[in-house]
Amino acid sequence: MAQIALQNVSKLYGDATALQNVDLTFTNLVTTAVVGPSGSGKSTMLQLINGLVRPDQGQVFAFGKPIDYQHLPELRLQIGYAVQGIGLFPHLTVEANITLLARLARWDAERIKARTEELMTLVNLPLSYALRYPHELSGGEQQRVGLCRAMTLNPEIFLLDEPFGALDPITRNEIQREFLHLQGSEARTIILVTHDLREALKLAQRLVVLDRGCVVQHGTGAEILENPANGFIRSFFQSQLDP
Ligand code: ADP
Repeated sequence: MAQIALQNVSKLYGDATALQNVDLTFTNLVTTAVVGPSGSGKSTMLQLINGLVRPDQGQVFAFGKPIDYQHLPELRLQIGYAVQGIGLFPHLTVEANITLLARLARWDAERIKARTEELMTLVNLPLSYALRYPHELSGGEQQRVGLCRAMTLNPEIFLLDEPFGALDPITRNEIQREFLHLQGSEARTIILVTHDLREALKLAQRLVVLDRGCVVQHGTGAEILENPANGFIRSFFQSQLDP
């Protein structure tokens, strides 16, 4: 059973159509990148999947069931969500930021400590940083803390919205490598929104291409590169991949 699916979903903002009649089933336990020009509906799609936004038409499925909007907090504890710019809590230490969700889920102290150390080691953060505050870390290190926080409860579903944007190229490369390492060691269903096609091809097994609120193609990177569904995709890919 697919964990995440959209069935004939439309979302309007006033007169603007953010998503239109989207039918999409995401493949379990792989990374799917959602790509497309700015304003094509990528972020709206992620917000629909974690229930931040409700569809005007159609149904959104998470964990194989229609989202129950009466029980969103429970749903969100099961979904890792990392968004560029939604930063860490500045007045909480790194450790407190990472363990926030585990404390909400009432894990015992020993389990929290073990998981925190495991994750910090996984993303290459020195354990001595646990008691630092976010402003005492570089941008790349803060982003790693954000990834640890999103992963703490080991969610089966991970939604990432431009998680590596606003990083310098070297740090981005390093974090992308760690992402691949993490996905190799704890595979989960990941939806990655990115405007960077190279990043999508590097990190994701599957791609969804959006144009003006519609899904224009869904397949592996190779399938889409070899056989773009229309001229829009061909020129979108060319413009992004040609130096
Ligand atoms: P993308 O992530 O691909 O840049 P978005 O999903 O953010 O696209 O936006 C899709 C469309 O919906 C755009 O036209 C955008 O202006 C509009 N939109 C998104 N969120 C809102 C909002 N909260 N209020 C009004 N319009 C919005």
